[in-house]
Amino acid sequence: MKYVSTRGHAPELSFKDALLVGLASDGGLYVPSQWPVFTQEEIAQLRGKPYVDVALQIFEPFVGGEIDSDALRSMITDAYSTFRHPAVTPLVQTGPNDWLLELFHGPTLAFKDVAMQVLARLMDYVLEERGEQLTIVGATSGDTGGAAMSAFQACKEIQTFFMFPDGRVSDFQRRQMTTLGAENCHAIAIDGNFDDCQSMVKAMFADDQFCETVQLSAVNSINWGRVMAQVVYYFTSALALGAPASKVSFTVPTGNFGDIYAGFVAKKMGLPIDQLVIATNENDILERTLRTGQHSLKKVVATITPSMDIQISSNFERLLFEASDREPAIVRGLMDSLKQSSSYDLPASVAEAISEDFEAGRATQTETLAEILRLYTDAGYISDPHTAVATFVAKQNANSDVPMVTLSTAHPAKFPDAVQSAIGLVPAPPAGREIAEDAREELIRMENDIGAVKAAILTKLNVVSTRDG
Ligand SMILES: *Cc1c(COP(=O)(O)O)cnc(C)c1O
Repeated sequence: MKYVSTRGHAPELSFKDALLVGLASDGGLYVPSQWPVFTQEEIAQLRGKPYVDVALQIFEPFVGGEIDSDALRSMITDAYSTFRHPAVTPLVQTGPNDWLLELFHGPTLAFKDVAMQVLARLMDYVLEERGEQLTIVGATSGDTGGAAMSAFQACKEIQTFFMFPDGRVSDFQRRQMTTLGAENCHAIAIDGNFDDCQSMVKAMFADDQFCETVQLSAVNSINWGRVMAQVVYYFTSALALGAPASKVSFTVPTGNFGDIYAGFVAKKMGLPIDQLVIATNENDILERTLRTGQHSLKKVVATITPSMDIQISSNFERLLFEASDREPAIVRGLMDSLKQSSSYDLPASVAEAISEDFEAGRATQTETLAEILRLYTDAGYISDPHTAVATFVAKQNANSDVPMVTLSTAHPAKFPDAVQSAIGLVPAPPAGREIAEDAREELIRMENDIGAVKAAILTKLNVVSTRDG
């Protein structure tokens, strides 16, 4: 399988190269050159199989023989042995046709573990094979950093640096990043918001000399390996609810559009998905885009669902690529406009293609808190606020004939303040996942200043920056 950039000006890459490089050199994102499609019989044969088996079947066409099956299987098995639930991502019923897909049984209680645990093993495998090393730099609105550091702490060939908006991630999230005690994992608190952190990552990738010096890579949700890993649970959950004989819909709490885009990929691969519903909080750029056809940036507002406090939704570019019939010139035009004027208008054909597969809705913070209470009262279920944003939106889009699966992306214990203000109870982390009260925190606090952050990274890596003398 070859991988092509959404902007059409970067070289085609193999699976392994796409995995290591993250962002394409033309600023675009890598996507497979074509979609592997499973027949309905092939999909039916996956029913009842263990998660690891389904994952292997789904990965194989994307890996395209570059890693042998036994090695791949053992990495997947190892990755999901870190999960607390035998089903890896179990379904929980909360209403007659309403289901929650719990994606938070991994080490950091966030859905990002599902992809990150696999990605770390795949990357370390390829690096070791090549005798190479990498530096991963990322921006995190809370969950990615912890999940990545937890996954990469055992990798010998990889150093990780995560920038997060100081004071805008929960204490639990911060402590997950700062108390690991792993020498190759560094947390950087930036005086700014998530998009500031994300812009710094982009600026680092635009600096050829810096990229070269540190062997820069990314594991943010733009990494193809992460998307691929997230496709699996759409299959396992749909199969459990009657696919491929009948259709299933999904509602997904959305930030960077990685998780829901994986659902779109599953649909492209032949899984009979009815609706894919984008759920946003008050940072509703995607909801507005679907409703008005105009994608226009607004200021990020801080909410009780910080992992969705995003305006620049990176993976949306991959959808634009598909919706424009894989025409990189259209994607480049839209991305230029976004850069120049902080907005673009979807061409009519693109808007129409998107609306064939997607719906969207939003929940305010008040609605989210009320929804946490409703789930608790109606179903006895304690949900995290991100999940509640999505169940709120799911309710408005549900069709009583089709099962609606809402992706539950975090354990409620990660967001105790929101849960407590909704239902008056403080959810506890599950046994074995607590962080000791007196665990020592290690972090670097910095201004929103790209030069200073680069210098700090070089210092940590023990590299003398030639530019700064
Ligand atoms: C990352 C995250 C999301 C958003 O996922 P995207 O792939 O960025 O759309 C939603 N909820 C939680 C808890 C998250 O950590």
